[in-house]
Amino acid sequence: MQYDLKVRPSSFYIHWPFCPYRCHFCHFVALAAHEEYMQSYHQVLCREIQRYLDLHSGKLALKTLYLGGGTPSTYPLNLLLDTFAILKESVTFEADYECTLEVNPGTVTEDHFKVWQQIGVNRISLGVQSLNEVVLKKLNRHQSTFDVEWVIQRAHNFFKSVSIDLIVGLPGVSVQQWQDALKKIVQWPISHLSIYFLTVHEQTPLYFGVQKKTVLLPCDDEVVDQYYWSIDFLKQHEFEQYEVSSFARHKAQSKHNSAYWNREPFKGFGLGAWSFDGSGRYQNEKNLMSYFSLIEENKDASFFQEQLTPDQVWLEKLMLGLRQHKGVLFSELTEGLSDEKKEKLNERIQALGEQGFIAFDGVRLQLMPKALSVENYLIEKLSF
Ligand code: SF4
Repeated sequence: MQYDLKVRPSSFYIHWPFCPYRCHFCHFVALAAHEEYMQSYHQVLCREIQRYLDLHSGKLALKTLYLGGGTPSTYPLNLLLDTFAILKESVTFEADYECTLEVNPGTVTEDHFKVWQQIGVNRISLGVQSLNEVVLKKLNRHQSTFDVEWVIQRAHNFFKSVSIDLIVGLPGVSVQQWQDALKKIVQWPISHLSIYFLTVHEQTPLYFGVQKKTVLLPCDDEVVDQYYWSIDFLKQHEFEQYEVSSFARHKAQSKHNSAYWNREPFKGFGLGAWSFDGSGRYQNEKNLMSYFSLIEENKDASFFQEQLTPDQVWLEKLMLGLRQHKGVLFSELTEGLSDEKKEKLNERIQALGEQGFIAFDGVRLQLMPKALSVENYLIEKLSF
């Protein structure tokens, strides 16, 4: 099973796995301190992109392009220019095209901004996570608030939108420190903010620290309170929540992430990159040497392929729809369901509505504020 070539995705994702260090909470496909492979990775990545583009007649029209990682701000500029030269030969960029590049503070100069602007990057996503340097250092993340502010104070002169990522629930960040950080952040010239709950992934140093009790996590109630405090506070500062973790002001919602949540096809390139062709999900090989071999032997780079069953499609619609403020259409959920299941679903929605978790106007289901932190529980309640 391979990505359907009849599909012409309007979103691309490019993965740059290299990082200067490995954060203790990281579960991404990332390679710390392996700069010696950057050049060869770049060549193989370009080959993968070129090979895919060659399979299409005419140019593909892109609405969004996302350079994620890893740390794509460490992509050497001369190499990045090559990658975009390849892309520009075979794709066109729509008028409201969004091109995002993930940036780690402390890895950039103004030269980076100039080149990124030149190739069409118009949005950067800065991994801030916390303004508490001591906490970050304990998690093996080496950045300073000075590095963060250095980027923030300059980036808005180059890019239409600057987004930052934060993690709520990091061990050692007090409620007061979290609130003080957000008070500072809303004064920055940014238009987008993502707040993620800390997740302890198995086999990470954070996981082992928690198991050994050398790392003490804040209690769940405290973290949930901080999240709700943040929603209210951000609202007062014009940040509209449009997804469980995402807030935008000046209409700067992420088009790329919205394409994921709306289940639009996208094609990913690079180590461990995911793709979706509308009916199947694919993930590229995560082992660097195996990825190299597959591309060099002109083979498909994916090691995981899954044709979604009707039940999986239904669950995706429910989960991805409810994550978004706009919610999910009831008609999308009842399409193809037996009368018996339709009735059951209706009963469950009514019950969750009475408990104040869900708003349902007969057309659309939306999460109520108190449900935002228990989304998974609700999905379970609604699922068959
Ligand atoms: S910078 Fe990001 S991708 Fe790299 S190790 Fe840290 S969390 Fe993982």
